[in-house]
Amino acid sequence: MLNVALLMLTLLFSVTALLPSVSSAQPVICEETLVAYAVPKADDSSSNAHYGLLPCHWNSTIDYYINPNNWYGISTAGVVNTITSSANTWDKETPFQVFSYSGTTSRIAGSRDGRNVISWGYLRIGILAITRLWTSGSGVVGADCRLNTYYSWSLSGEPGKMDLQSVMTHEFGHWCGLKDLYGDADYWLTMYGYSTYGLTYQRTSGLGDIKGLQAVYGSYARIFHPHPYPFYSDGTITE
Ligand SMILES: [Zn+2]
Repeated sequence: MLNVALLMLTLLFSVTALLPSVSSAQPVICEETLVAYAVPKADDSSSNAHYGLLPCHWNSTIDYYINPNNWYGISTAGVVNTITSSANTWDKETPFQVFSYSGTTSRIAGSRDGRNVISWGYLRIGILAITRLWTSGSGVVGADCRLNTYYSWSLSGEPGKMDLQSVMTHEFGHWCGLKDLYGDADYWLTMYGYSTYGLTYQRTSGLGDIKGLQAVYGSYARIFHPHPYPFYSDGTITE
């Protein structure tokens, strides 16, 4: 239903510089926002090419751990399969392997502990999730994502609950070096900075999301060649 007012909840990220001066580096955390928002009538804006890049990104494959403990009755396999699906939504769009799932953990996301962790935990009301990136120069050297236990979570887009895959796909976009977008035309992109109960469309990347990812990590060459016979390649065709 279009033009219905929705309560849009903020998806945030923060960047913490590790070097050279840890003491002066404070996480950048935006004010939470809770606003009535009208869904744009245009239903094709996932085809817009908007993206924004953070000033930093990983230069190596990200080994990440998942803490599956939750209050919502979601099985460990359900949490792990869903979050790894979110990671794969990005990985399948670039030849660089961005993400590598390393296993479960009991750690809580939010502190620099040498592991990149996704977990539920306490956050202020109005914020669904926060990704925190620790940086050294233009490189990211650590990342965590905390999901807010204040809200209920679901794997199937249930009303009144937040969709885990949708939110995690957005948060992993930050891990890839992408910024939030807040323009109305960006509503249907994964990196749109708000979400609300029951929405699942941010599971799927739009054109701008893919262009942003490929601006950081490169794209598969898609060149059609004129040979009248089958052309076999073990990888990218680069004639
Ligand atoms: Zn965000």
